[in-house]
Amino acid sequence: MKRVLVVGGGIGGLTTAIGLRQVGAEVSLIEKSSMFSPVGAGITIQANANAVFQALGIFLNPEDVISIGKFQMVNGKGQVLLQGDSEALPVDFASMNVHRADLHNNLLRIADGIPLRLGVALESLQLTDGGVEVMLSSGETEHWDVVVGADGIHSTVRQALLGDQACVVRYSGQTCWRFACHAPGRVPTVTTERWRPGQRVGAVPLSRDRVYVYMVESAPAGTPQPGSDRVDVLREHFGNWHSEVDAILEVMDDSVPVHHGDLNEHKEIHYGKGRVVLLGDAAHAMTPNLGQGAGMAIEDAAALTLLWQEQPENLAEALATQRLKRVKAVKTMSWRIGAMAHWQWSMSRWLRDLLLRSMPTSSSEKQSLALWGPGFTLAQQLQDTLDGLSYVE
Ligand SMILES: Cc1cc2nc3c(=O)[nH]c(=O)nc-3n(C[C@H](O)[C@H](O)[C@H](O)COP(=O)(O)OP(=O)(O)OC[C@H]3O[C@@H](n4cnc5c(N)ncnc54)[C@H](O)[C@@H]3O)c2cc1C
Repeated sequence: MKRVLVVGGGIGGLTTAIGLRQVGAEVSLIEKSSMFSPVGAGITIQANANAVFQALGIFLNPEDVISIGKFQMVNGKGQVLLQGDSEALPVDFASMNVHRADLHNNLLRIADGIPLRLGVALESLQLTDGGVEVMLSSGETEHWDVVVGADGIHSTVRQALLGDQACVVRYSGQTCWRFACHAPGRVPTVTTERWRPGQRVGAVPLSRDRVYVYMVESAPAGTPQPGSDRVDVLREHFGNWHSEVDAILEVMDDSVPVHHGDLNEHKEIHYGKGRVVLLGDAAHAMTPNLGQGAGMAIEDAAALTLLWQEQPENLAEALATQRLKRVKAVKTMSWRIGAMAHWQWSMSRWLRDLLLRSMPTSSSEKQSLALWGPGFTLAQQLQDTLDGLSYVE
């Protein structure tokens, strides 16, 4: 196996391409959009994902990122349920906030030299004896040794390989608005998420002047109508209970793009079949409540890079063996946290708040370390392998 086509130029696809190039694969990437335009929002790259990034030589420009630092979860009464400081944890890798466009530009800079075709979509594929035949929107048919489907939650690769049944997504019952904007003097210094029955709002600093805000609401699928992303509607819906967000909404106008979408996850995790590998959201779209969707895509890329060395005939199955347990646990935890944050029944909320408030900070720190641990192990293995290769060269 030498030649690999990566389908999709998101975080998962670009990280995979960067990784596979380092272990000698001839990588090419296609992206269906004719230009990159990531959602105008922020994203959190936690320590586990950053460890993998660093093992792959992906160092984001320091001026593009900000450490998560202090964070807190607060209930509707203003009581702090959970708090911590990512910088106080005994780990070698920062957890950071970054604007999605900046993250993308960094990945594109590091992927420089990898053939990348924009405006080209995979339309269908067929497994052949020695590899995979792909039919592209450009009209071409190509033959590749391996195809990696990193084409997101509505993956064409997944659908072409496994059929509609395997692509079912389920709605979490929650819908989300998010945006990033400049708000000099109004950017909070602490990342804060506030919970109240059926709603959750978070404000995440991206720099001294720029902030990322997300607003989540329990609603039947498809409830919000066009226009729900107007600032006056957001003010009406989410105003008057998160003072930092009120201050931002006060200076925001409709020129700031607001992205709205329902929060879904794949019902089943699939890593593909034989030489057609799925990863990232194409394999296991999850709810964003744990801030680990991209983290898991980045870890997948690391695991695939390591496996490439062994050249197993059933690459997808080998990847699934390594990743399934880890990803399933994170996906399930993310779903549960989202549900718990929106609990409506006062008795359950009272109990939840009591438990969370009585939990010592050391216990939530332990949970962060447990969440990141497998990523650190993977990153170390990758680092050792790549160091070994450069020594041989
Ligand atoms: C509200 C929200 C907040 C989130 N916050 C976080 C967070 O803080 N931290 C975190 O780790 N994760 C977060 N996530 C999850 C994260 O955004 C995703 O898990 C991650 O972006 C998935 O990356 P990907 O590369 O697998 O897929 P995508 O980002 O979806 O990329 C897929 C790419 O494939 C292209 N494509 C699609 N079809 C084709 C085709 N047929 N041919 C060619 N190209 C194609 C698409 O155009 C796209 O560029 C969040 C998600 C949401 C919804």
